[in-house]
Amino acid sequence: MNRQKQPEAGGKKPMNKVNFGRKVSSVHSHVGYLEPWPFYEAAEPISPMDRAPQTTEELLAFMDCKGIEKSLVMPNYGVPKQEQPFSHNQLVVKMAKEGGGRVAGALWVSGLSQNKQRNEEAFTLLDEPGIRALKMSYLLGGTPNPKKWDQETTVLHERIFAEARERNFPIHFHTGSGGSSDITEYFELIKRYGKENKIHLVHMGGGTSGHIRLITHWQELMEGGYQIYVDSSWAIGFGPRRLLQEIDKTGIGVDRFLFGCDEPWSDFESEFWKIQGVAVSDEIKERVFWLNAEEQYFH
Ligand SMILES: [Zn+2]
Repeated sequence: MNRQKQPEAGGKKPMNKVNFGRKVSSVHSHVGYLEPWPFYEAAEPISPMDRAPQTTEELLAFMDCKGIEKSLVMPNYGVPKQEQPFSHNQLVVKMAKEGGGRVAGALWVSGLSQNKQRNEEAFTLLDEPGIRALKMSYLLGGTPNPKKWDQETTVLHERIFAEARERNFPIHFHTGSGGSSDITEYFELIKRYGKENKIHLVHMGGGTSGHIRLITHWQELMEGGYQIYVDSSWAIGFGPRRLLQEIDKTGIGVDRFLFGCDEPWSDFESEFWKIQGVAVSDEIKERVFWLNAEEQYFH
């Protein structure tokens, strides 16, 4: 396992203990060390966030501190090295195994041809206890739009989708407005695979335009039989508010909205209040905060 201990990483700093008085499970947070990197104009390597758990003990301590009952965890990523997130798959397996039923894992896979062999290694871990999902992001290259894939890329994706389907695993996809993570690119992927595969759109479509497009198509996607799931991490307030109120009114997709804190990139506290502060029934909040997660990942 590639585990480098650095003073600025891992849950060593004191954390604010919070208790918001309700049951919460998170289906999106990251684990494992991420090296500082000279991002953008940074003259020196920097680490934008500093508390991803590196051991099961640190993960459980973090969860206890924040009052999180159960967590779906996945590799930390963000530096432009293809092998980096793959290097944390073993850690995810270990945490899912040691987490005493409170931890499930999502394994990192990639649709880029250079990662073919790395995917094969990840596939060998799919049936480890507590592994319940796959995680992909096009921030490290490629596009979710199948119309833009070459033959080799198509074959790689087909394999990933087949492995997920066989186990009824959702695939988590990073969304963000513009570029390769834009939801308009994902709509093509959803059209092709979304009826057979569970597609989890992280960040609720990604930014203002992504939220509006997702909400616009929500009802037809649900009624069309597409297995779309979302979490509201990084979402702009109006997005989750509007979608939750719509769900509260119609009941459409009540099992598809889940809570994800996206620690350590986002923060548990603000993500919690983004949902808690919305004027919808407590029944909806119970679903979002833990019940949907329970059905999807911890049954
Ligand atoms: Zn994330």
